Amino acid sequence: MLCPNCDVEMTIRTGVRVTGDKDPDTATRVYLVQRFFCRNPACPAFGREQASVLHEMQTETDTPGTEEPAQSAHETDKLAAT
Ligand SMILES: [Zn+2]
Repeated sequence: MLCPNCDVEMTIRTGVRVTGDKDPDTATRVYLVQRFFCRNPACPAFGREQASVLHEMQTETDTPGTEEPAQSAHETDKLAAT
């Protein structure tokens, strides 16, 4: 992605954002966050975040209580064997 101020390709920093993990009534969601920073020292926006993109990731914990631990262990065994 290009900086909107100087049209130089920006640096990307990637992180993870989790929402709802503190509230049992809210579904936990995990996002991959890409933040774009200008890297042109001559640009007034140098070093500042110019854009961010959020990608929601699939989680296995959306429906707590329905997962059977025995089944998960079995799948792990199957993966290890291949
Ligand atoms: Zn810039």
